[in-house]
Amino acid sequence: MATNNDVWTVVETDNSGRPKKLGLELASAAANLASQYGGKAGAVVIGPREAAEAVGQYGVSQVFYCPDPRCKSDIVGPAAAVISSLIQQHNPRLVLLPSTPLGKDWTGRISGKLGLGIEADVIELSAEGGKLTTVTPAFNGALRVSSQFSREGQQTGLVVVRPGAVTAQKQEGGQANLQEVPVPGDATPGMTVVESVAEKGGVPDLAGAQTIIAGGRGLGSAEKFSLVHELAESLNGAVGATRAVVDMGWIPYAYQIGQTGKTVRPKLYIAVGISGEIQHKVGMQTSNTIIAINKDPNAPIFQFSDLGVVGDLHLIIPALTAEIKKRKGIG
Ligand code: FAD
Repeated sequence: MATNNDVWTVVETDNSGRPKKLGLELASAAANLASQYGGKAGAVVIGPREAAEAVGQYGVSQVFYCPDPRCKSDIVGPAAAVISSLIQQHNPRLVLLPSTPLGKDWTGRISGKLGLGIEADVIELSAEGGKLTTVTPAFNGALRVSSQFSREGQQTGLVVVRPGAVTAQKQEGGQANLQEVPVPGDATPGMTVVESVAEKGGVPDLAGAQTIIAGGRGLGSAEKFSLVHELAESLNGAVGATRAVVDMGWIPYAYQIGQTGKTVRPKLYIAVGISGEIQHKVGMQTSNTIIAINKDPNAPIFQFSDLGVVGDLHLIIPALTAEIKKRKGIG
């Protein structure tokens, strides 16, 4: 059955019930694409009505929301069933999903259940000529692959989009039609969560951070990571890391940025003692401004930095932190 021309997004909410930033980015992207197709933009919010109201200010005209606590569990079946059921009922042309652990899990289940195609890891999307073209990185970012769904318009296409691919744009006075939806009766989770244990030290919000100070092997030891923490604190920034230091146990995996870690796009990224290997680069190269501090003038990171400082980080970082604190009148 042919689809209509509507473009939807699926929005995750945080533990306080607020929509996650990536969901707002995708709502704006859905609004933009739907207007090009001459269809309507919609959203499915896995969370409370307040979150649906907030998403409604980002250009979508219809928001379905499911506040059922079973959808907020770590078991993804109920939420995936809600999304699948809505897609079956309404048959949108495209559904944009967040490229997060949960979003990817939902996508796999929806695709399996409804037999729909997936474009994953999308970093750019446009609908020129009446067909969606997505761009995904390949070979560690060395290649950019452009793709189109072969059956767009005949069946719903699932598009999994990375954070920062589009900008969230609030529309003044924007209001959407809100509709609460239940978890379908046949959505049996088949398992229950017995216990959840928070990782020690919490999980950094790298995806939403405006400033990130990332540390690499050049720091020399786990103890010296304190230099990165202090600089981050002085700038109200988040701390990130390379895989090299995570593998050595200097900092937990939750801080890792790169191919096998997180993808980030802050306004400011300061790389401290990081060589800039391709696997790290793919996770941070779209940051607005990149500053690198490295003692090797030939380090690859300087090839894609806006500002490069060649020198010993053990001298530069404490001096920089002290100067920032002095100018801010802190510490
Ligand atoms: P190094 O490459 O050792 O660089 C340290 C840098 O510090 C050097 O450039 C050196 O000049 C500089 N330095 C040393 N001392 C000082 C000093 N006193 N002052 C200033 N500068 C100094 N890596 C990731 O980061 N994220 C990933 O997700 C990731 N995924 C991977 C997946 C695969 C399949 C593979 C094979 C690798 C992956 N890697 C990843 C590893 C990646 O290839 C690099 O090994 C890693 O990024 C290097 O980390 P680094 O820059 O901290 O260390």
